[in-house]
Amino acid sequence: MTVNTDVVIIGAGPAGLTAARNLAKSDIEYMLIDRSENPGERKPCGGFIPSSTIKRFSVPRIEGQHQINTARIKFPGKELISIHFDESLGMNVGRGALGKALYNEIPDIETHSLLGASVERIETDAESCRVIAMKDGNETILESKLIIDSSGANPVSQRFIPLRERISNSQMGYGLQYHIKVNRNLDSSNTFLYGNQFSPRGYCWIFPRGNIAVVGTGGLVKNVRDNERRTHEYLDTLLNEVEPFKSELAGGAIIKKDSALMPLCGVMRPSFGKRILLAGDAAGHCSPISGEGIHYSMVGGQCAAMTARDCIKRASFSDNVLSNYEKKWIKEMGSDLKWGLWLQKKLMRPGSGKTSGWSSSGFIDSEKSQKIIAEMLMGQRSVRSAILAVAPGYLKAKFAR
Ligand SMILES: Cc1cc2nc3c(=O)[nH]c(=O)nc-3n(C[C@H](O)[C@H](O)[C@H](O)COP(=O)(O)OP(=O)(O)OC[C@H]3O[C@@H](n4cnc5c(N)ncnc54)[C@H](O)[C@@H]3O)c2cc1C
Repeated sequence: MTVNTDVVIIGAGPAGLTAARNLAKSDIEYMLIDRSENPGERKPCGGFIPSSTIKRFSVPRIEGQHQINTARIKFPGKELISIHFDESLGMNVGRGALGKALYNEIPDIETHSLLGASVERIETDAESCRVIAMKDGNETILESKLIIDSSGANPVSQRFIPLRERISNSQMGYGLQYHIKVNRNLDSSNTFLYGNQFSPRGYCWIFPRGNIAVVGTGGLVKNVRDNERRTHEYLDTLLNEVEPFKSELAGGAIIKKDSALMPLCGVMRPSFGKRILLAGDAAGHCSPISGEGIHYSMVGGQCAAMTARDCIKRASFSDNVLSNYEKKWIKEMGSDLKWGLWLQKKLMRPGSGKTSGWSSSGFIDSEKSQKIIAEMLMGQRSVRSAILAVAPGYLKAKFAR
């Protein structure tokens, strides 16, 4: 079967679904493809979405959403502190429920989507694009003017038409999670634990959702591979030995373990070319300091849809016109990605003896500074404003320049 359309979107994660929603609003013909029948259901993710993202993208109510208003945070050499906020910081959600809610919001989506179909090949030339997808042994050829590839950290188009360098192991993150079911509803705090005890130079997170706690740890792939300690041992030790988490999750059953990659590379270019726009994780739209990418992927999907609309209206798909996409997303999130990478390099490095980048940086000396870092992690503050608020004087002078 051959289908003709204007734009093919590969991947129905937050980036692809946001792109589809925006193209639908602009009356642009598109087809959205995902290999999963239920978008998001199998995506390993902590599922935290900041309230600013929910507001900006008018994210509808998500089944099982779990409101968060407290950040618990432990830095190396410091006590675990609990920072309560008067307003909601955001929601923890199941990725299947998020996918369903975003998918169902898009008008007439069934006629514009092909779910359960895996993209097997991509071709583009000066005139058009072809995406070859397989579903239940049947081939569908989708012919279009443009492709938005939002198929995740290792995007499928890179196999056939590489636009950028492969993300190296020192810029790609790895996260492993246990989903632990307990016999009561959990509280409304997200927990971040830093230090060698908890992760291979990354951090450990505990994100509750109803009676399920998503407990994860991770770091850069290079550090995970070079580490003598296996990644699951951090989680096992946390659950069996470290208070108050041992008591809080006592008696819980691990109902799922999952793991996946996340790009922690900062601004990565190019993100366009040869009638293709990369969006979301595919373009590195993910925080290098926290690995949170739902917000940035939605921004990337929105910018990609705006550019696609302009291209269709102008009937021009040259790299010159496509480059407006990169300008758009860098304007929106370039600062967070750039300074996030800077922070990652500064704070996640090993220190001498028991110290780490965090403890020797002067960034976390007071509770006020720790609150500012918490605000950044929960999406309430830009990375640059957090750095300016907590950095020692000599660094502030550097930024002011
Ligand atoms: C362990 C872990 C925990 C995380 N926790 C958080 C968190 O709490 N908060 C947060 O904001 N971010 C978190 N992230 C990051 C976040 O999950 C991603 O940044 C986000 O999902 C990226 O969205 P996306 O739309 O770009 O890609 P994805 O969500 O990865 O979606 C890509 C889609 O493409 C489809 N696809 C891939 N290949 C093909 C193919 N060949 N054919 C058809 N379809 C295909 C997949 O099925 C998938 O649905 C976490 C990541 C990990 C790994």
